[in-house]
Amino acid sequence: MSFFEKKIEFLKGVGPPRAAVLQKELAIFTFADLLQHYPFRYEDRSTIHLIKNINEEMPFAQVKAKVVQLDTVGDGPKKRLVAVVQDSTGVMELVWFRASIRFVEKALEYGKEYIFYGKPTLFNYTLNMAHPEFETLEEAENKVGVLQPVYNSTESLRNFGLDSKGIYKLIINLLDLALPHVTETLPRYLLQEHHLLAKADAVKNIHIPTSFEKLDQAKFRLKFEELFYVQWRILGQKTNRHQTIPGYVFKSLPLVNQFYKEQLPFDLTNAQKRVIREIYQDLTKGRQMNRLVQGDVGSGKTIVAFISMLMAVDNQTQACLMAPTEILADQHFVGLKPYAEALGLKIAKLTGSTKKKERESIHQALIDGEIHFLVGTHALLEDVVKFKTLGLCVIDEQHRFGVAQRAKLWAKNTNGIPPHILVMTATPIPRTLAMTLYGDLDVSVIDEMPAGRKPIKTVHRYDSSRLAVFGFIREEIRSGRQVYVVYPLIEENLKLDLKDLIDGYESLSRAFPEYQLSIVHGRMKSADKDFEMQRFIKKETQIMVATTVIEVGVNVPNASVMLIENAERFGLAQLHQLRGRVGRGADQSYCILMTNSKLSKDSRTRIDTMVRTNNGFEIADVDLKLRGPGDLMGTKQSGLMDLLITDLASDGEIVKLARESAEKILDTDSQLIQPQHECIKIQIASQNKNSSNWARIS
Ligand code: ADP
Ligand code: MG
Repeated sequence: MSFFEKKIEFLKGVGPPRAAVLQKELAIFTFADLLQHYPFRYEDRSTIHLIKNINEEMPFAQVKAKVVQLDTVGDGPKKRLVAVVQDSTGVMELVWFRASIRFVEKALEYGKEYIFYGKPTLFNYTLNMAHPEFETLEEAENKVGVLQPVYNSTESLRNFGLDSKGIYKLIINLLDLALPHVTETLPRYLLQEHHLLAKADAVKNIHIPTSFEKLDQAKFRLKFEELFYVQWRILGQKTNRHQTIPGYVFKSLPLVNQFYKEQLPFDLTNAQKRVIREIYQDLTKGRQMNRLVQGDVGSGKTIVAFISMLMAVDNQTQACLMAPTEILADQHFVGLKPYAEALGLKIAKLTGSTKKKERESIHQALIDGEIHFLVGTHALLEDVVKFKTLGLCVIDEQHRFGVAQRAKLWAKNTNGIPPHILVMTATPIPRTLAMTLYGDLDVSVIDEMPAGRKPIKTVHRYDSSRLAVFGFIREEIRSGRQVYVVYPLIEENLKLDLKDLIDGYESLSRAFPEYQLSIVHGRMKSADKDFEMQRFIKKETQIMVATTVIEVGVNVPNASVMLIENAERFGLAQLHQLRGRVGRGADQSYCILMTNSKLSKDSRTRIDTMVRTNNGFEIADVDLKLRGPGDLMGTKQSGLMDLLITDLASDGEIVKLARESAEKILDTDSQLIQPQHECIKIQIASQNKNSSNWARIS
């Protein structure tokens, strides 16, 4: 057993009871686990403040003071330990509550001097610190470095004396023993190329940094390593997939060419052409394609999907297109039908509301190979839906589909050859994050809008200027345009939200008696939703009052205004998606974000970002910073988010460097035969041997 596999209870100062609580609270089982319990922040302990200079504005303060009073007051949950401490310039009060009382009572001596460290606050006009840390003067003197690491701890751990300081002590014990065992995990030339600290040096400095500079270097080195191995794994899987999973070969393109020459209603953008080429290249290789097409709302993903589907039909297979909602499936069906029929091809639609009889005849026609294109919703995934030969499946707006559902598609063919998979998403994800999240897919980006689009003008208005906003809407409708008015609707607040929506609908009806309104929300029957949607599409109604059901994909080029009520309640990605419903024609479009006057800091950032930019990637970056990557759709299941030290929101640059390094080595020495790559081989072997984290350190 390697040194790092040793059980944590055998470390000096631990023992079985503490080991149990370390396991339970922090999942620390081994020496390696503890060594990788990195500090979550560092305190600058180089300055000692005089009590008279302390104020509640300071985030933290450190004083050297004597305990001149020590009392327990109150009882039950209100029980607290209060100490009054004094230096030569003044006094202040320190308070501990509940579980920590016992521990502090034992440790703190009346009349003795300590270093106290905490957040100063004003309470009843007296300066005060709650739960400050403290240490004796001797302890303070023996401390290494001026940056004090702070470790995550919990109430249960504190009961065993394992507050941040207690954990720190264990780590000091361990570091002494461990450092001689730490071996390098990256080739020497990579260390030189990227100016990386040696592994042992980094491990030491992440816990006891000798300077800010060293700390930064240690973080950089550990993040690089973490990302290098993540990327190695992802890229390796992809290479493996490319080499082993068979796919249909699509080479001839008569229908594609005919469509391109005779029917395509506009010139493709260069980005669309490039992405179609990338897809075609995949389809000629005899390996299964798994490609993600990312393109901002309105960038024209549908036509790319259709041309890819034609490639499948050109090569005697069938293609399907799966959308997340009925409305969207409908719209795709209506949009693609004329194209398909002009080429003499048969297209069908299958959704939850397809009648039984029709459903059965579609099922049969699919097996017989009479239907070339199938458009639909989740209904496509049902086991009874079988194809003669399914060559390509396009999944639109994939964040609504789980990985398991994607896997179901693989089983649609009985001959063991899975269909090619094309996933399309408008969810703008920063590229560096996509490299990690969608690492198992090849990624194409449509990063160009069709020509002639005017950028949408976005404004923020308070509820108080509603009359002016209505006046503006009236002008737009008068000149022949249509308007969306969107309300938030969440499950937890369903009743009130629905009431808001209905109230809004009624007050709009009163404000615009001369115009027709549609209303669509998730609680309506889908036939009713469709009916209302169709009325709007046919321009029978001028205003569409809706919840976010219209968020995804709906295309009404004549709509020029998107009015979002209670915009502060929407997330950035959602706001951007909603805005993408307008600006689809040649006329100027507008997005109006209505809020009340009280906005939280985050809401304000979101609104300001929307007003400032139309760029989905920029918005995604802000979103990522506000919410953190764990929150982004689908990232939780990805299994890649258990990063120990990397913060994908801010470490994008390191992702790139690490990926490039991994790519280079995979290209030149994928079997790791060269001696300088021996350390990678060893590291991977130990990672494979241990599913737990400890292996990453040794
Ligand atoms: P999204 O990427 O959001 O799915 P769509 O495929 O719905 O976008 O396209 C949005 C609109 O732009 C549609 O009306 C489509 O016909 C049109 N469109 C797509 N590509 C082009 C192009 N190259 N030139 C002009 N209009 C285009
Ligand atoms: Mg779309």
